[in-house]
Amino acid sequence: MLASQLYAPTLRETPAEAEIVSHQLMLRAGFIRKAAGGVYTYLPLAWRVLRKIEAIVREEMNAKGGQELAMPIIQPAEMWKDTGRWDVYGDEMFRLKDRHNRDFCLGPTHEEMITTTVKSDVRSYRQLPLLLYQIQNKYRDEIRPRFGLMRGREFIMKDLYSFDRDEQGLNESYNKMYDAYSRIFTRCGLNFRPVEADPGAIGGSGTHEFMVVADSGEAAIVYCPKCDYAANVEKAELHPITPANETALPLEEKATPGTKTIEALTAFLAVAPDKTIKTLAYTTEKGSFLALVRGDHEVNEIKLQNLMKCLTLEMADEAAVAKMTGCTPGFIGPVGLKGVTIIADATVMNLFNAVCGANKPDYHYIQVNPGRDFVPTQTADIRMIQENDPCPRCSYPVKQARGIEVGQVFKLFTKYSEPLKATYLDVNGKEQLMVMGCYGIGVSRTMAAAIEQHHDANGIIWPAALAPFQTVIVPINTKDEAQTNLAKTIYKQLNDAGYESVLDDRDERPGVKFKDADLIGYPLKITLGPKAVNENLIEVKVRRSGEVFYFTLENYLQEVQALLNTL
Ligand SMILES: [Zn+2]
Repeated sequence: MLASQLYAPTLRETPAEAEIVSHQLMLRAGFIRKAAGGVYTYLPLAWRVLRKIEAIVREEMNAKGGQELAMPIIQPAEMWKDTGRWDVYGDEMFRLKDRHNRDFCLGPTHEEMITTTVKSDVRSYRQLPLLLYQIQNKYRDEIRPRFGLMRGREFIMKDLYSFDRDEQGLNESYNKMYDAYSRIFTRCGLNFRPVEADPGAIGGSGTHEFMVVADSGEAAIVYCPKCDYAANVEKAELHPITPANETALPLEEKATPGTKTIEALTAFLAVAPDKTIKTLAYTTEKGSFLALVRGDHEVNEIKLQNLMKCLTLEMADEAAVAKMTGCTPGFIGPVGLKGVTIIADATVMNLFNAVCGANKPDYHYIQVNPGRDFVPTQTADIRMIQENDPCPRCSYPVKQARGIEVGQVFKLFTKYSEPLKATYLDVNGKEQLMVMGCYGIGVSRTMAAAIEQHHDANGIIWPAALAPFQTVIVPINTKDEAQTNLAKTIYKQLNDAGYESVLDDRDERPGVKFKDADLIGYPLKITLGPKAVNENLIEVKVRRSGEVFYFTLENYLQEVQALLNTL
């Protein structure tokens, strides 16, 4: 491709609307243009990258026995009503009506569609297992689309669905996909971690998210530097902390004027936060309750919501707090309450002589001993893991990092086959539900994540496997015939040898070309000046490391290949 003909309109300024690096760089380097909030045109450079990611995904899916198909983006409402998700999806679903006033949606995902398709054709256990996938646009009307391709309303996904005879088959399919995903993100040149995740509304046990490690990531993850444990913080399970034994002292009420926060309270009483009990009031569609965690811990609302099996979970308003405790927030606690649901974190129950609110403005109890002074309705793991908490597997202090979720593997079991009646006849002729899994990769998001992980102040640094072109050839002086002829020779040789190259034939100063080359992020830049013409030395610069090599015209092709293999 000649740079003079390449449609890659670069911008000098960073567009103000772009908050994160991948969004900024994709706009500046001429990869994408915005059509509407969260909806983008992929320009040729982006499309090339996306096609490369897709090709890697396709190869790995096919290698595991996946079969590609294509389902419609427009989906009839009926199958969504059968699973109850027509209502659950709410405003996030793009809905439309046809001329006969029938309801449709733009597919946010395809479990309903694939299950409906498979159930009408698959009758016998002999036809299972099936691994079916597609790569296509998905639609979710995000309340606040932002971060460019990271959280779009139209995005490209690979979604595979597995249909098995039983749970053992599902486990095999799941392991195949887990393995394929590890290979895909390795081949994409990404630093990633598979982490245990929360199964959320779908339920069931097995799910892993594949996280690209990046500071800008929306998800907080923890990992153990010693064993291979890694989890989303929302999911990370915790064993209760056991403090040193103490003699339980008698409960005492103490005036603590104006100490509405844990910081104010611990400063006033000169106690450590880990000797206090934080009481939080929540309201759900089933009623209100109190949750207790240690003062230095945070409630994990996902765990709490799973425990309470509620659809909504919000902080209780003052009226609800007053109804439960007879007090205003800031001084509430579990001691002496009747008929109030209290959920205590397991670590709270191990405390000795702790401090908690006395349900009386400006008063706290000290020397509170859980179990003696109050008995919770239920004790459970409801707190958020923190850096240096003991690893749930090996007790070594965990570390925290941020990640971008680029893929998820999920055991669905019979969540969809049951309401949609997807059954088959087993070996004994008995009707059984198909056991399903679903496995997604955000293709457009993977492109954005790659940039978040691989960039510097000058632009994108593509891993060679994803780069839109692997090399750019820059003749220093386009008026110098010897230089341009050499550039054309090298351009032809590289393309003939299968390396995708751009020849920057534009009538621009070298500085402009170098800047654009860095911004777009070609892994290798081949510069041709007098040294190349007179001394037969071709300059090859590595975008990632900044290293410069000189090769002769006779051997540069092998050297370029060797370099690309390392990038
Ligand atoms: Zn560990």
